[in-house]
Amino acid sequence: SAKASAKPAVTPMMAQYLEIKAEAGDALLFYRMGDFYELFFDDAVAAAAALDISLTKRGEHLGQPIPMCGVPVHSAESYLMTLIRKGFRVAVGEQLETPEQARKRGGSKAVVERGIVRLVTPGTLTEDTLLDARAHNYLAAFATIRDDCALAWADISTGEFRVAPCPAVRLGPDLARLGVREVLLPDGSDRRETVEEAGAQVTELARASFDSAGAEDRLTRLFGVASLEAFGTFTRPEVAAMGALIDYVDLTQRGQLPLMRPPRREAASDQLQIDAATRRNLELVRGASGGREGSLLWAIDRTVTAGGARLLERRVAAPSTRVATIRDRLDAVQWAVEDPILSDEIRATLRRSADMDRALSRLSLDRGGPRDLGAIRAGLEAGAALAERLADPPLDLSALTAAPDLRALLVRALVAEPPARLSDGGAIAAGYDDELDEARTLRDEGRGVIASLQAKYAEATGIASLKVKHNNVLGYFVETTATHEAAMRERADTFIHRQTTANQLRWTTVELSDLETRILNAASRAADLEARAFAALRDAVLAAAPDLFACARALAELDVTTALADLARGLDWCRPRIDDSRAFEVTAGRHPVVERALRATGQPFVANDTRLTAEEGAAIRLLTGPNMAGKSTWLRQNALIAVLAQMGAYVPAAEAHIGTVSQLFSRVGASDDLARGRSTFMVEMVETAAILNQADDRALVILDEIGRGTATYDGLSIAWATLEHLHDVNRCRALFATHYHEMTALAARLPGVENRTVAVKEWDGDVIFLHEVRDGAADRSYGVQVAKLAGLPPAVVARAREVLDALESGEQGTRPKALIDDLPLFSAASAPPPAPAPAKEGAVETRLRDILPDELTPREALDLIYELRRLA
Ligand code: ADP
Repeated sequence: SAKASAKPAVTPMMAQYLEIKAEAGDALLFYRMGDFYELFFDDAVAAAAALDISLTKRGEHLGQPIPMCGVPVHSAESYLMTLIRKGFRVAVGEQLETPEQARKRGGSKAVVERGIVRLVTPGTLTEDTLLDARAHNYLAAFATIRDDCALAWADISTGEFRVAPCPAVRLGPDLARLGVREVLLPDGSDRRETVEEAGAQVTELARASFDSAGAEDRLTRLFGVASLEAFGTFTRPEVAAMGALIDYVDLTQRGQLPLMRPPRREAASDQLQIDAATRRNLELVRGASGGREGSLLWAIDRTVTAGGARLLERRVAAPSTRVATIRDRLDAVQWAVEDPILSDEIRATLRRSADMDRALSRLSLDRGGPRDLGAIRAGLEAGAALAERLADPPLDLSALTAAPDLRALLVRALVAEPPARLSDGGAIAAGYDDELDEARTLRDEGRGVIASLQAKYAEATGIASLKVKHNNVLGYFVETTATHEAAMRERADTFIHRQTTANQLRWTTVELSDLETRILNAASRAADLEARAFAALRDAVLAAAPDLFACARALAELDVTTALADLARGLDWCRPRIDDSRAFEVTAGRHPVVERALRATGQPFVANDTRLTAEEGAAIRLLTGPNMAGKSTWLRQNALIAVLAQMGAYVPAAEAHIGTVSQLFSRVGASDDLARGRSTFMVEMVETAAILNQADDRALVILDEIGRGTATYDGLSIAWATLEHLHDVNRCRALFATHYHEMTALAARLPGVENRTVAVKEWDGDVIFLHEVRDGAADRSYGVQVAKLAGLPPAVVARAREVLDALESGEQGTRPKALIDDLPLFSAASAPPPAPAPAKEGAVETRLRDILPDELTPREALDLIYELRRLA
């Protein structure tokens, strides 16, 4: 019809918006309009809800009002952060020209040209405000070619770039180890669920992005090499994953590629393998609350730089299995432990350095300012100072003195405290650039001359209150009160009237406007020269990037080394003996996190030994003891000591000898995992199966109350069979806590199994926890005493004792049955039950329920009693 063909007109601005929005795809479009980023249509509705800001309307599109909301540009980062946290991606559409330029180009109706300058996603953040300085922010890509898979990952805020073969079953554990924020998958990949379970956001890319031939091209061009072999040998899936990652970074940064370090290939065999469940369970880098607090990392982190903190996090997440690597690191820590004065000096110097990695990344993306140059200078200066002080360091610190020329240049060129933004002015030091100095002198002298003009004019006119002022509309002007109009008009040859306000008159003079032009010219020339100097310095910095990365790495190594030494000295930890044996001997071991928590309350931590050496075959310690005795604590402290030792740290013990562990497993029975919607028992079994299928004879396995999540006999049977499998098939080192005392009999049958128990003392019917791990089995479980401590009503405690006594005197196997027959029911004598025990309903009860007593006559009541008597 005629009506349908007469489409309402789309405004030119809306046409531009829709075009850019189409390019932004599923990302929210921040459309720059003056001092605001505006969002329209569905974007506005979603963002207004997510940000809790008001949704308004603006104009019409195809006859419908357009929903709109907006955020001010100056505070946009905090809104961006909220949106990213809530799982959105944001395309930032900027104005690419000024309104004046647009008018010159296309007349008064022209729409300012706009375009997407950046796609903000969880894995591609670079802003300090959006990042945790002490943690990495990883983006990863997972590629599969036939049965071969690989994972590439990068932190574009530091330039780190790695790749490793990654069999599909390792994807979840690897993502968990790295704490990856965003993972790139080819369209329609069946790995989406694994990625989401690991807590990362999935971004699907066209399969073409994962093409390995194209990828090789992209990578060789990016790194300016003829062949990737310059960096090692990579498999095709590895190349594909790296290529997809670079492709995506390019897409999100709109061609402004950040500085990436050449890719490094990581060999899984060099690392202690720890799966996601074990990481969660041991709280390595995240505590139970999800934050750092309460984690192992939290308890040991004494680093003083952000780069050091990130390196320490990497070490905790991926301890080594190479004896030589571990010993080198321990040698370095020992060196720092033995020279506390030097170590403290190093830490003091490190505190004055800055985050070179992130400064470099921002400078390469053209988002850096003078302060980022200052950070590079601070890092290089700290490096040089340390290199001079450290005559014979045990680490390779040659990179500390990297780029000496650049350091000298920055020292000369930058002011002591550079401003945040180049536009703030005053970043470049005096004496560095002659032309800049000259322009600044002109500008500043001009300002001085203006100040003296005020005195001159006041004297000439005899008006003491006359002022020379400045504003953005008039520039410099002379101001008098209206009362002096006549006197000023008399000097019309000098003073030209410009403006009259409520009670002021404003004038200018030829001299003043000449001066102003000269000042303005000098000021803008100074700004131009400063920008030019900044750009040259930035280029010099970027040209030295490899040296700077190496220097940053050396500083981080020193930080981690001295921080671990500080910790070891402060808490009296010891250097572990590490070798390829199958030893696991810990004397007076402690749990670093529990000990720290107890210290805060003034309670002592009871140190315990662990003897778990297995020359051959399995070594398993079966731990029994009441709840709350300290079983879990002992189990976990041994796992944590293994992690600490293999990351090259001292350990909380008097002595430790550890033959390297290849895989670490830790499971707790019936942990709640409702969030993932599986029954807890099912989770427990899936996780136990993973251990039994994977653990080799160099694994260390920690099992805490496995089988707890099901009925007693089922649970006992499963725990029993699991222990036998660990002993006979996996033949690993394991600590196994259980409340099934029946299992202690296994120690007599299986040569690798020994019983341990956590001692308690019974006193006056109560139980006192000694937290001491001893040889032997628990004689009983003290569950009733623990329940009493927990505040169960006395009547219930008394009754539980009765049931327990009966059970303990009964015959094995027939116990529960005999119990029902032998034990009198909960008797009202010991305590009145709150409600009568529900008995099976008989004829009397049925009849009684139908009676309405108020409606019965005395006669009927009597008849009823007879009737009931017959029924009973
Ligand atoms: P279980 O696993 O036997 O139920 P836990 O290991 O959870 O017991 O320990 C319970 C509490 O006892 C811990 O939270 C801690 O406060 C304390 N505890 C455990 N081990 C020790 C110890 N070695 N020294 C001092 N207190 C301890």
